[in-house]
Amino acid sequence: MRVLLTGGAGFIGSHLAELLLAQGHAVSIVDDLSTGSFDNISHLRSNPAFSYVIDTVMNERLMAELIDQADVVFHLAAAVGVKLIVEAPTRTIHTNVHGTEVVLTQAAKKGKLVVVFSTSEVYGKSATVPFREDADLVLGPTFKHRWAYACSKAIDEFLALAYYRERRLPVIIVRLFNTVGPRQTGRYGMVIPTFVRQALAGEPITVYGDGTQTRSFTYVGDVVDALSRLMTTPAAVGQVLNIGNTEEVSIGELAERVRAKTGSRSPIVRIPYDEAYEAGFEDMPRRVPSIEKIHALIGYRPTVGLDEILERVIASVRADIAVADRR
Ligand code: UDP
Repeated sequence: MRVLLTGGAGFIGSHLAELLLAQGHAVSIVDDLSTGSFDNISHLRSNPAFSYVIDTVMNERLMAELIDQADVVFHLAAAVGVKLIVEAPTRTIHTNVHGTEVVLTQAAKKGKLVVVFSTSEVYGKSATVPFREDADLVLGPTFKHRWAYACSKAIDEFLALAYYRERRLPVIIVRLFNTVGPRQTGRYGMVIPTFVRQALAGEPITVYGDGTQTRSFTYVGDVVDALSRLMTTPAAVGQVLNIGNTEEVSIGELAERVRAKTGSRSPIVRIPYDEAYEAGFEDMPRRVPSIEKIHALIGYRPTVGLDEILERVIASVRADIAVADRR
């Protein structure tokens, strides 16, 4: 198949591109490199089945052309990371809503399958864990910018489902839960690369809040494997699906594990949310996916647990540091 990845130079997109190429598909990427990086895809350039365009998904004429040449579109391009979202809410909303509008409008003209990337953030502060796809979304007030991300992604979901219903556009909506692995940067606040870099540098490991909040981390390899299977699963069309791992860990415990695994002597410090993000910042106390639906559909089960994830991330950050030191 000819597969178009918007945001393909990002962390998840570049892993997906690698897998799809290995499976024999042709992959093209469009990315404006706002949060993605050329380094993520430079090793793919020698593959004749790979091509890329550095531009924004808001360029309608370009998107019409690229979508025309593709059989499937994975729409990953978006503003990501809670830090970025709190600092640049206008950009977040515009990129996430308008970008998806452009992709769906152009895909609808040709009836191309679109996989729309949503997020576990849409479940918001809900206390009903594990989060099932048919659960209510519990978001905070509009003057707390964090919620703009969840809302913009929820609008993407509504829009995609509206295209499916009204125009018969094949869409699949995936809600990703804290995907992690090599190449993820800590620059946008993501906790695991941040803790690993801090521990390896002997700097304080910064736990925000009291550290009792939990997350369930999913290895990027498990995510892209599921995505490649969904692409050829007709029963996935018109569905909203969680992709995650049910292994839950508190952020305080995560800091301890990172320190132990790196053999670091870094102190673990607590930083109030107000200081880390903005005054009145709200975090979600727990986040665990229900993966029953995607298991029933494609037999999905995560294969890489948290300890293994940490070992792989630590090895990759160590390798990056060694390369940077040689430069
Ligand atoms: N976090 C932290 N220290 C950091 C970065 C993040 O304690 O340096 C916390 C953050 O407040 C949240 C969790 O780790 O409770 C996961 O944060 P991340 O930004 O990775 O993803 P989120 O689940 O918030 O989208």
